[in-house]
Amino acid sequence: GSVCSAVLIEAGHNVTIIDDFSTGNRDAVPSAAHLVEGELSQVIEETLSTHNINAVVHCAARSLVGESVSHPELYWHANVVTSLHLLDAMRAHDVRNLVFSSTAATYGEPDAVPILESAATAPTNPYGASKLAIDHMISSYASAHGLAATSLRYFNVAGAYGTIGENRAVETHLIPLILQVALGHREKIMIFGDDYATADGTAVRDYIHVRDLAEAHILALESNKVGSHRIYNLGSGDGYSVQQVISQVRETTGHPIPAELAPRREGDPATLIASSSKISHELGWTPQRTDLPTIVHDAWEFTRNLGPAAHSHPNYRP
Ligand code: UDP
Repeated sequence: GSVCSAVLIEAGHNVTIIDDFSTGNRDAVPSAAHLVEGELSQVIEETLSTHNINAVVHCAARSLVGESVSHPELYWHANVVTSLHLLDAMRAHDVRNLVFSSTAATYGEPDAVPILESAATAPTNPYGASKLAIDHMISSYASAHGLAATSLRYFNVAGAYGTIGENRAVETHLIPLILQVALGHREKIMIFGDDYATADGTAVRDYIHVRDLAEAHILALESNKVGSHRIYNLGSGDGYSVQQVISQVRETTGHPIPAELAPRREGDPATLIASSSKISHELGWTPQRTDLPTIVHDAWEFTRNLGPAAHSHPNYRP
């Protein structure tokens, strides 16, 4: 959300950010953005009434697979119920242009990779199910109420954009966790399972650079059409195993990165790789920084340059 905001501001747009900072980070709010602090359902009516909004980029969600398995109620409330409030408020204020952060997790365990947008959607966890429910909601509002919408199904977003990078109170994502090891904040990285049906047995993911992801949002916003809900995958088309990501971080940082085997994480599919050819053909999306060495390099520059401040979240604990 913060990188999209920064890139939109650079492109000349006025940006109002709504955030309750339950997981977000105040340092990541661009200084040129207007900030409305509060829970989305509570503040959306007032914000749409007073801020002259003509488009919404909806990234507000809970997004942790493991947490969604143990606490599904959080996901149905924060993701589905809140999104319904947002859509109703947009409808009431005649704001039609929407870009929604959907996810690869809507597909579940794919029958074939790379995954096309026409693949079956069978999420393996409540997180993916909650995002799929919102995608269905958006489709029906587009055809019934003239919403102009695009859902972007993110694969594994990583990297950093200048001073905006991954900085969470409780980190669960692979690349920032390995970088915490390189920084000396964490002793080792745990590998969640080495018995998947992949080349080295560890899970394979498709990593996309956050700056390229932001570009896709702008392309979508500028081309949305009333009554239409488009769905695009966003990834690189290449998959990297957990072992390969660890090797890349070793190479980039020069740190040995001790690693230890741990059980599989519940709800994790073996392989997720996107076909992004639809958005490339239809919107001309051409990723510039989406290759693993660049992603890890940019994430490491962010982490290394900010040092302890890169983990300035008040509740940070490695
Ligand atoms: N992973 C891991 N160790 C960790 C964190 C993640 O082995 O400490 C694995 C995880 O099981 C998954 C991959 O790395 O296969 C990417 O996980 P992440 O949480 O970054 O993204 P997800 O694919 O769940 O959206």
